[in-house]
Amino acid sequence: MTAPSGVSAPAPHEHSEVRMAYVITQNCCNDASCVAACPVDCIHPTPGEVGFATTDMLYIDPATCIDCGACADVCPVDAIRPDTELTSTMAPYREINASYYAEHPPSPALTPGATPAPLVTSATPLRVALVGSGPAAFYCATELLDHPGVHVTMFERLPAPYGLIRHGVAPDHPATKAITSRFRLSPDKARRFRLHLDTEIGTDLGRDDLLLDHHAVIYAHGAFLPRRLDIPGSNLPGCLPAGAFVGWYNDHPDHRDLDPSLHTGRRVAIVGNGNVALDAARILVSEPESLAETTIAPSALDALRNSTVDEVVVLGRRGPEDAAFTAPELLALIQSPDFDVEVDPAALPEDPSHLNDPRARRKIDLLTEIAGRPTTAGHKRIRLLFHTRPTEILGTSCTTGIRVRTASGETTFDTSLVLYSIGFTGTPIDGLPFDRATGTIPHRNGRVTDHTTDRPVAGIYTAGWAKRGATGVIGTNRTCAQETVDCLLADHAAGRLPIPRSQRPRAGL
Ligand SMILES: Cc1cc2nc3c(=O)[nH]c(=O)nc-3n(C[C@H](O)[C@H](O)[C@H](O)COP(=O)(O)OP(=O)(O)OC[C@H]3O[C@@H](n4cnc5c(N)ncnc54)[C@H](O)[C@@H]3O)c2cc1C
Ligand code: SF4
Ligand code: SF4
Repeated sequence: MTAPSGVSAPAPHEHSEVRMAYVITQNCCNDASCVAACPVDCIHPTPGEVGFATTDMLYIDPATCIDCGACADVCPVDAIRPDTELTSTMAPYREINASYYAEHPPSPALTPGATPAPLVTSATPLRVALVGSGPAAFYCATELLDHPGVHVTMFERLPAPYGLIRHGVAPDHPATKAITSRFRLSPDKARRFRLHLDTEIGTDLGRDDLLLDHHAVIYAHGAFLPRRLDIPGSNLPGCLPAGAFVGWYNDHPDHRDLDPSLHTGRRVAIVGNGNVALDAARILVSEPESLAETTIAPSALDALRNSTVDEVVVLGRRGPEDAAFTAPELLALIQSPDFDVEVDPAALPEDPSHLNDPRARRKIDLLTEIAGRPTTAGHKRIRLLFHTRPTEILGTSCTTGIRVRTASGETTFDTSLVLYSIGFTGTPIDGLPFDRATGTIPHRNGRVTDHTTDRPVAGIYTAGWAKRGATGVIGTNRTCAQETVDCLLADHAAGRLPIPRSQRPRAGL
C-alpha cells in the first residue's frame, strides 16, 4: 500500500473525523476493475490479498484517496461516488469504507502477480468453446478476446444470455444488472465471437462435438440446483425453492408458470437468511408500483398486485452474528420506505464488542439499530428471526404452516407458502468429472482433473460457480475466470492443447 513517488504520503489511519473524496457504495459486486485504475493503490482488498475471496465489497481508504475519479470512470455498476454527491441512503458507506481500514491493517499479498501469457496471434490461432453465458463465461470471453488470434464460441441452454445477472439479480437492482454493458465487444472482437442460444451442452451437443472445432472447452455453466429442505412435508405444494421463486419474478423460462400461492394467506415463511432470501422477502412486500418500471416479469407483477401477503418471516438457523446475509444487503433492505423490518432485541448479543469478525460486528450494529426503530401502523413487514430451525411443513394436500424449534421451544407459523433458500449446488454434465460431495467440477486452478488419476484432462477447463460452488458475487467470477484463462493460454503456449479433430490430417492422406 505504498504511494508511488510524486504522490504525497498518506496520513496515518486515524478517523476521528471521516473525510474522503470517493466512496464505494452498495452496488459493488467485487469485480475489482477499480483496483487497477487507482493511481495510489487505495482500494482494498485486492484480488491478490487475503480477504478478497470473502469480502462483502471493496473499500476506498479515505486517508489515501487523492480525489482523481479514475475508479468511478471504470466501475461497471456505478457504485463509486464522490463524497459530496452521496444521497442519504448512500451516506452510511462513508463510514463503512473508512472503518474497513481502521479494522484491517494492510494485509500481505496472497501470491505474486502471475506472469502474463504470451499474446496469441493469428499465426498461432486458438479456438475456445465456452459452456454457459453467465458472468463467468463472459469474463472468460473478454479475457480471451484480448488476444487477436483467439476465436470464442459460447453455448447457452436458454433463449437469452447472461445467466443469473438476467434471471437471479433482483429486478429492483438495475445498476447491478447493468454490468452486462461491461461485456459489449468492439467490432474486431465481435467478429471473433459467436453465441449459440437454446443449445444445451450434454444434451444437444457433447464434449466431443465441441472438441471437433475447438482446441479447448471451458465449462462455466453455473450451479443453480437448489439444495433440498429435508424435513417432513417439504414435498407438499406450496413449499418451494426460493431459486424457483426468483426465477419466476425474473421471467426464467423454467419457472414462468410457477404460480406461487400469494392470494390465500397473509404470511410467507422463508427458510434461510442469505442475500437471496432477503431479495425474495423484499420483492414480496415492496409496493408493486415501485417494481412496475423494472424488468420484473409482467405475470409476477400482476400476481404481486393481487397479493394478500403483508408479512414475511425470515427464519435463520443460527444466531444474528452468523446471519448469512451481508451488511450492505441488510442496509439496502432497511432503506426501503415500502415496509418495516423487525428484529427482536432479545435475540441480539448485549455486547457485540467481543466478536472478532468486523463483518459480524457491523451486522449486529445494524440489527440493533433496526430493533430500536418504531414501526409504522398498516405497513407490511419483514421479521428477521434467529436461532429458529424448521422441523416440519404442515398440511395434508398443500402447505398450511411451518413448525419450527426455537431456543424457547416449538412454535408454528400459519402460511400457505414456504420458500427455502439454503444454497445451490452444481449438476453433472456429459461425462465430465464431477465431485458429488462439493457439487463442483474437480480442478486445479481451473484445469479440470480426472477423478481417478487426479491429472488435468487436456483441453478441458472450468470457471465460475461450476468451478468454485455457489459462492461469491458477480465480480468474484472475474478473478476466477482470469485464473482459468491464464492456465489455458499457458497450456496453448506450451503445446499442451489437443488439435481440433476437424484440423487433424486424415489417415492415408
Ligand atoms: C438469486 C440470486 C441473486 C443474486 N444476486 C446477485 C447480486 O445482486 N449481485 C451480485 O454481485 N451477485 C449476485 N448473485 C451471484 C451471481 O449471480 C453469481 O456469482 C454468478 O451469476 C455466477 O456466475 P456463473 O457464470 O458461474 O453462473 P450463472 O450466472 O448461473 O451462469 C451459468 C449459465 O450457464 C447456462 N447453462 C447451464 N447449464 C448449461 C448447459 N448444459 N449448456 C449450456 N448452458 C448451460 C445457464 O443457463 C446460465 O446462463 C446472485 C445469485 C443468485 C442465485
Ligand atoms: S463494482 Fe468493481 S469497479 Fe465498482 S467499486 Fe466494486 S470492485 Fe470497484
Ligand atoms: S478517486 Fe482516484 S485516488 Fe481515490 S480511490 Fe478512486 S482512483 Fe483511487
